[in-house]
Amino acid sequence: MIPAKFDYERADSVDEALELLGRDDAKLLAGGHSLLPLMKLRLAQPALLVDIGRIEELAYVRDAGEQLAIGALTRHHDVANDPLVQEHCPILSHAAGLIGDPQVRHRGTIGGSVAHGDPASDLPTVLLVLDAEFAVRGPGGETTVPAAEFFRGLFETALGPQDILTEIRIPKLGAWKGWSYQKFNRRAQDWATVGVAAVLRRDNGTIEEACVALTNMGLTPLRAKAVEEALAGSSADDAAAAAEKADDATSPPSDTNASADYRRELARVLTRRALEEALSR
Ligand code: FAD
Repeated sequence: MIPAKFDYERADSVDEALELLGRDDAKLLAGGHSLLPLMKLRLAQPALLVDIGRIEELAYVRDAGEQLAIGALTRHHDVANDPLVQEHCPILSHAAGLIGDPQVRHRGTIGGSVAHGDPASDLPTVLLVLDAEFAVRGPGGETTVPAAEFFRGLFETALGPQDILTEIRIPKLGAWKGWSYQKFNRRAQDWATVGVAAVLRRDNGTIEEACVALTNMGLTPLRAKAVEEALAGSSADDAAAAAEKADDATSPPSDTNASADYRRELARVLTRRALEEALSR
């Protein structure tokens, strides 16, 4: 389909984008790989598109001491291939490399993926499991929102209509050496039917702390709290039993890809696989 009529402005800086966003019914355009399909289906009909896709100051990966700082306009391909991300946050580079196909990864941005708030997206789950923070600039200045408070509902986030997500800050994994992201999809370029992200801190055979999060098991990316509680202080041998709790407190959708029950089963199986892989690293 053809999108409804809209105006187009290109912003060359964050300040300019903020000013343009002040206009009625304006929407940011980053990589366009989620927004443009919605516009073609007429599920989104903004009056003005503010193109931030060429703002150089928002595309970077920086070492920020205990954290990595990633600009919101960093493309999936660059997240997947950046040496700093590969060294300090390999679960993120791995997951970014699983998104869509090369075309999608060369256009889509980490900020667009987070701001879009699609529970089937891979990076929000990984950023949730890592306790990332999101830097947001809006009419009232800059705020920082933890991932646990950012995803509010289906395609709904803490971002207001005049806010710009500028930076994603991620704690370096350090002692959290064991990690895995398991994605189940029918075709290589598809979104996850279900995905599971896990990072573990362990001391020999004991799991000291575990963080587990789920893709496409509810209206937002979810922490698998029952699994995390079952694993804390447990032995590696208990991982399979803990994985059986993966679908506790979830409300997976039923759609043409999978029924809710099938997704529940997938969540349990993928969590077991994720824990096994994380424990093997
Ligand atoms: P856009 O489409 O430009 O924007 C998306 C939304 O976010 C819009 O509402 C926009 O206004 C807003 N926005 C963008 N940037 C900002 C910002 N900095 N601050 C505030 N708001 C902002 N994703 C996956 O996770 N896994 C997949 O397997 C996958 N497969 C795909 C396959 C195909 C064929 C396609 C087309 C897409 C796929 N995607 C997948 C989605 C892809 O990752 C998108 O690139 C991403 O979801 C959105 O990023 P974008 O930069 O394209 O955002």
